[in-house]
Order: sequence, then C-alpha cells, then structure tokens
Amino acid sequence: MALNCKHVWKQISDYIDGTVSPELREEIEIHLAGCRHCSAVLDSTRNILVLVADDRTFNLPVGYSERLHKKLEQAMKE
Ligand SMILES: [Zn+2]
Repeated sequence: MALNCKHVWKQISDYIDGTVSPELREEIEIHLAGCRHCSAVLDSTRNILVLVADDRTFNLPVGYSERLHKKLEQAMKE
C-alpha cells in the first residue's frame, strides 16, 4: 500500500528521529522522492528541529506537533 501525504506528515518527526521501522522508512523515502510537497514539509520540519537542537534542548516546544499537524491539515485543504 502506498502512503499518502497525510500518513507521511503524521510520521515525519519519527522519521527524522529515526524511530520508524525500516519498512516504513523505505515507504516514506519512496513517497518523498516523488512528492515535492512532502519534501518541502520534511525540509521545514528539519529546520525547526535544527533550531531546537541548537538551543541544546531536544524537547520540542509544548504543542509543537499539534500546531504542525493543524498547519499541515490546513495546507491539505487549500
Ligand atoms: Zn506527499
């Protein structure tokens, strides 16, 4: 089964953290290779995580994932 964009977005922080299964990782990579929208999402998520890491804290701000998901869902509707 091919992943759709919403599935990828739900998994994207786990994907960056490397906590997804190898099978899922491969599926996500296949999707990202063919979907410009999701690779843009991956890039911006990575940038946010780099900023957070620079602050020497690995905890995302409270509500971060929730806000990200809301933003993504809104982008999906447009
Ligand atoms: Zn996509």
